[in-house]
Amino acid sequence: TDYPPSVLHGFLAAAEADPDHRALAYFDGALTYRELDALSDGLARHLAARGFAPGDRLAVMLQNVPQFVVALFAAWKAGGAVIPVNPMYKQHELAHILTDAGATALVCSERGWQDYVRATAASSPVRIALTACELDLQTRDDPRVLTAGRLPADDAQDLLAAARAAAGPRPDVPLPAAGDTALVSYTSGTSGRPKGALNTHGNISFNAHRQIRVQELPGDAVVFALAPLFHITGMVCQLSAALAAGHTVALAYRFEPGVVLDAFREHRPAYTVGPATAFMALLARPDATAEDFASFRLISSGGAPLPPAVVESFRARSGGLYLANGYGLTECTAPCASVPPGHEAPVDPASGTLAVGVPGPGTMVRILDDSGAELPFGEAGEIAVSGPMVVPGYWNQPAESRAAIPGGELHTGDIGFMDPDGWLYVVDRKKDMISASGFKVWPREVEDVLYTHPAVREAAVVGVPDAYRGESVKAYVSLRPGAAADPAELVAHCKERLAAYKYPREVEVLPELPKTATGKILRRELKAAAG
Ligand code: ATP
Repeated sequence: TDYPPSVLHGFLAAAEADPDHRALAYFDGALTYRELDALSDGLARHLAARGFAPGDRLAVMLQNVPQFVVALFAAWKAGGAVIPVNPMYKQHELAHILTDAGATALVCSERGWQDYVRATAASSPVRIALTACELDLQTRDDPRVLTAGRLPADDAQDLLAAARAAAGPRPDVPLPAAGDTALVSYTSGTSGRPKGALNTHGNISFNAHRQIRVQELPGDAVVFALAPLFHITGMVCQLSAALAAGHTVALAYRFEPGVVLDAFREHRPAYTVGPATAFMALLARPDATAEDFASFRLISSGGAPLPPAVVESFRARSGGLYLANGYGLTECTAPCASVPPGHEAPVDPASGTLAVGVPGPGTMVRILDDSGAELPFGEAGEIAVSGPMVVPGYWNQPAESRAAIPGGELHTGDIGFMDPDGWLYVVDRKKDMISASGFKVWPREVEDVLYTHPAVREAAVVGVPDAYRGESVKAYVSLRPGAAADPAELVAHCKERLAAYKYPREVEVLPELPKTATGKILRRELKAAAG
């Protein structure tokens, strides 16, 4: 498993080998490898001239736009790290991250700056503020996205204008070493307060090169950035892998099913990755046809559970494409298990769980019981992962880092098991277990059954307080467009297929289930609403 110290090394080699190849495609615009290299050199000079020093941190709060990538490479070329921030975060969430991570520079959209970031930036460590003109998806008003800034907001300069004004060779800073921090990734907070995982350049390069081997894409391939770049899956599997391999990355602002299908038609991508909810939403569009998916060589579901029923409906609607599962966490820099090329993941006959994949080369997975002892094949316990993609720790949290990553082995908080052929299965998150009359119920197993009902589009299962059972199982579902099912029918569907203590006593139908910006269904919010 040979890999360079950083993906910047691979990008620079690709830029030298074929400078006029498109690195990024964005609606009607594009940046070649030469242009992306030159713009990020210029922005690195701009940052350095304003006192951004090696080891400093640049927060990037943008959707999937070209300026995200310019900012990322500029920070790395200046010896710094990037803090990817979800652009949907509200002022107090951003303020927490900027202060917690000690960000000295910030990039956000013009609208975000005008609406609220400015107030936050003034009271934070931020000294350099840049804005990026972003596409308005409603109007498709795109004139200056790749050309220049509109109205440079007071106190903040347009990123591309700044990069162009400072054009010249990159600052005299050595290229990143494998052990240098590349990202401070605040975990999405599906289950708690965000913490900044320190992904090193070596972590990213290792996993990006592992992805390149799994993807087996031709040299002129287009990779479509379905997952957000601010999330580790999008950052590593799509962006870093593609630009280290000399491919083209097609961006489309944010996940919007109609826009994504148009982009598939226009760019004919060979690879993409996203959560199962995104694929459900694409399938739900009446205008989606098998032809829209015909260019793909591989599609992966990553970062969230994949119900086996979704794999089958995707196959039927896409003209036979196999949706490959993959398991990863921010703390292991995206994937730590995936389906090897040419294989299909098995379904465990006892629980109906689809395997997430096999741990890749150099990746060690152990299943541990509560005392930390390793369990044999088939027995479920906490998944522990070690290898070159596991982060060394969290920003400024030595005690939490030692607890979560003792001796360099990440304790994931997920329950799973291995089979004798080396396939890994994720049962669920440890903290989402429901205890109904003293029996363990794993929400995922119940959700998988709900997804087999033809009317169900999304499902989430939580434990709700119950005076008699302690907790009882409750399901929330949203339905496919035009489909109908009443709660009693869905309860009966589960009752037929699950042990008596597992089936939901109550099913509530909602128009849509709450999700994170990365498309993960938020059981936590549903549980809070129910409790
Ligand atoms: P937080 O750590 O704040 O709770 P988060 O868990 O959503 O947020 P991520 O690192 O984005 O942060 O998500 C990793 C988690 O997603 C894993 O621990 C696991 O629970 C879940 N997950 C990822 N891939 C899969 C998969 N293929 N099948 C089932 N669950 C998955």
